[in-house]
Amino acid sequence: MGLNKKSVDDINVAGKRVLVRCDFNVPLKNGEITDETRIVAALPTIKKLLADGGKVILCSHLGKVKNGPNEGESLAPVAKRLSEKLGKEVNFVSDYNVTGEAATAAVEAMKEGDVVLLQNTRFRGKEETKNGEEFSKELADLCDVYVCDAFGSSHRAHASVAGVTDVVRAKGGECAVGYLMQKEIDFLGNAVENPVRPFVAILGGAKVADKLNVINNLLEKCDTLIIGGGMAFTFLKAKGYEVGNSLVDLEKIDYCKEMMEKAEKLGKKLLLPVDTTIAAAFPDPIDAEIEVSVVDADKIPADMEGLDIGDKTAELYADAVKSAKTVVWNGPMGVFENPVLAKGTIAVAKALAETDATTIIGGGDSAAAVNQLGFADKMSHISTGGGASLEFLEGKELPGVVAADDKTE
Ligand code: ATP
Repeated sequence: MGLNKKSVDDINVAGKRVLVRCDFNVPLKNGEITDETRIVAALPTIKKLLADGGKVILCSHLGKVKNGPNEGESLAPVAKRLSEKLGKEVNFVSDYNVTGEAATAAVEAMKEGDVVLLQNTRFRGKEETKNGEEFSKELADLCDVYVCDAFGSSHRAHASVAGVTDVVRAKGGECAVGYLMQKEIDFLGNAVENPVRPFVAILGGAKVADKLNVINNLLEKCDTLIIGGGMAFTFLKAKGYEVGNSLVDLEKIDYCKEMMEKAEKLGKKLLLPVDTTIAAAFPDPIDAEIEVSVVDADKIPADMEGLDIGDKTAELYADAVKSAKTVVWNGPMGVFENPVLAKGTIAVAKALAETDATTIIGGGDSAAAVNQLGFADKMSHISTGGGASLEFLEGKELPGVVAADDKTE
């Protein structure tokens, strides 16, 4: 699916004020950035706009900001790291109001090729998260052109993603997507809508309920759907197996039956675990030493809990990946945070690393697992947005994409 939206290659920004919504929602520990992936991912768009003579005004959210503006969730550390990465000054407007006098003054003082970073957009609370008109207008007042490059936030109709574009467009300004957005949508879009086959989708993670629409949509699009992780046990229960104390969602058993019937009707392969690694209880803390054994999937004792796929399943899943040409993976195969229960997730990550297929990791825990295991550079694409990539895999339109201008040939 080619993205029929204006990109930074289609707009003229020379001498113009360009507001860029980035995803600088980086993990922080004691005020230090522990993973700069999202900052690095934003650089190509920023550099392009600077090279084209734009005045680049950046904005982003950081964290959930549950208790109002606070220094712990300020974008100050991002300004510092970004300045190092760009090799030029980033003028950080630390005002908790985000827009307003300080921001306006900083923007007025800008010359072509300057960079300003506004404060955390979530410091404006519901005005941001409920797509507030006033905040949208204040953001739009700061710019002539708007660029969305925040894939990780593009599934949310927030003021800095959606509302601002209405105001910019109303005053004759252009709205485009950045390179990161383009890349994410090209990879995910091509994989789902126009995959080179066989297309294998792998889903794991904790709960079936979180991924109902993803399962349904991918079943229609893929050739083989592989289910692992906690969510597999609701499927196994739906097959009539004893699953002991494993994670089961009783309300979703009928749904799982429906999906198994749908797979059969469509002639799709739906792979479920044939064996499972069990323990007497969930590890507490999660990385505690734990005694495990492996049993067939239909032989889980009533007092035991399934916490990872077993060896036979890992082999079965790795085999399915070997013959694939496109693989999309979202969600770990087990409680990968515990080294004893990470084997299934490692086996799948390794199979993806070794195949020639286009491999796409849908963000979140699976991206963390792939990074942690050192397989990151072996994947074709690791999405920067867990929630956004999931909604994409559900077949939903993302507000951040919809909000950009259509391309006019
Ligand atoms: P995100 O929501 O961050 O995108 P994700 O979609 O990759 O993450 P989640 O649905 O959040 O995955 O589930 C990940 C969690 O599922 C991990 O913390 C892992 O420990 C847990 N998990 C995996 N397998 C099991 C299992 N068999 N029993 C219980 N929990 C499990």
